[in-house]
Amino acid sequence: MTKKEIQKLAKEHGTPLVIVDHDEIRANYAMFRKYLPRVQCYFAVKANAEPAIVKTLYKEGASFDVASLPEFMLVYDNIKKLSPKAQQDFIWDKIIYANPTKPKETLLALDKYKPLVTYDNVTELHKIKKYAPHAGVVLRLAVSNTGSQCELSNKFGCDPGEAVDLILAAFRMGLVVEGLSFHVGSQCTNFENFVQAFNTAAAVMKESKTRGHELKILDIGGGFPAPYNKHVKPFPELARVINAEIERLFPKDIQILAEPGRFLVATSATSVARVIGKAIRNGKRCYYIDDSVYHTFSGIIFDHCQYPLQSFKAGKKEVCAVFGQTCDGLDVISQSDLLPNLEVDDLVYAENIGAYGSASATYFNGFPPAKVLHVNQ
Ligand SMILES: *Cc1c(COP(=O)(O)O)cnc(C)c1O
Repeated sequence: MTKKEIQKLAKEHGTPLVIVDHDEIRANYAMFRKYLPRVQCYFAVKANAEPAIVKTLYKEGASFDVASLPEFMLVYDNIKKLSPKAQQDFIWDKIIYANPTKPKETLLALDKYKPLVTYDNVTELHKIKKYAPHAGVVLRLAVSNTGSQCELSNKFGCDPGEAVDLILAAFRMGLVVEGLSFHVGSQCTNFENFVQAFNTAAAVMKESKTRGHELKILDIGGGFPAPYNKHVKPFPELARVINAEIERLFPKDIQILAEPGRFLVATSATSVARVIGKAIRNGKRCYYIDDSVYHTFSGIIFDHCQYPLQSFKAGKKEVCAVFGQTCDGLDVISQSDLLPNLEVDDLVYAENIGAYGSASATYFNGFPPAKVLHVNQ
């Protein structure tokens, strides 16, 4: 979107505003499919759970990774609306429940859909057996997260050395292990993590086969980096690494799926906020805007992300601090943004804020989340 278009929409709809461009989502999805043709794409809904995004991606042919019962129902209900004739067997093809730890109530509610769910320990297996015996299971492996913006392996995934025992345990209980999954950490710019994870998964699959259980699915998780800055290597480079490992390590008939979240939606959204106050503190110009880290900018806290602010105004830029609208001292959007001298009611905007931003916005301080506007739907 051009600066002019952003400005026009902000004037029309007011601030705080988040503009989601569905052309961008479709382009990211097409790029993923083009460079990873063997990989089925399950959008990780938690990155941005706007129903309009689920609909757009479903129409493009995507499947979905859900992390909770409400996310499962969001996807399920939209698929039913868009494809009323979809049969039960669409579930595995379209939805994976990839949160390894599930409350028993969720398992009970999911069982009738015969879902595909992940696990990484024996306690979870017993729960699945008891409350969702019709589920298919996928074992999540812990893999290297080195250099990723958000690590996941300290919370999820079994030690690869325990993997085969966990596969055998599932089969002994009468559950069927369909495959393996891993996640190299979110915004993974160190492609070596993927290489190591593929090698670990291939070794586990091989041993599982010699123990009598051939697995059919390899779920390579998320982590595909968004182009937040010029240091992120282009996606085709990562795709080349991934394709080479798949080719080298896995049989042709294995089904490969991925769960990109950030990659599909990060670049789709631009947020626009209004300057509501200004001050000089310790010699530095400070702006207060009508959004916050408890709202659209939540990724600063939860996602270790920065979103440089830009202005529609010309003029010499100087280093300034930008604070959110809430009464909390933690609510700092930036200590060092570069902006021209702004006045109250001037607008600022941030790009690439479509992943893990609005998704974790709250009502803190009584301020509701920013209005979300979908364009090019
Ligand atoms: C969060 C998550 C994803 C998406 O990760 P991105 O880094 O946004 O691609 C995929 N799979 C699982 C299991 C997740 O928890």
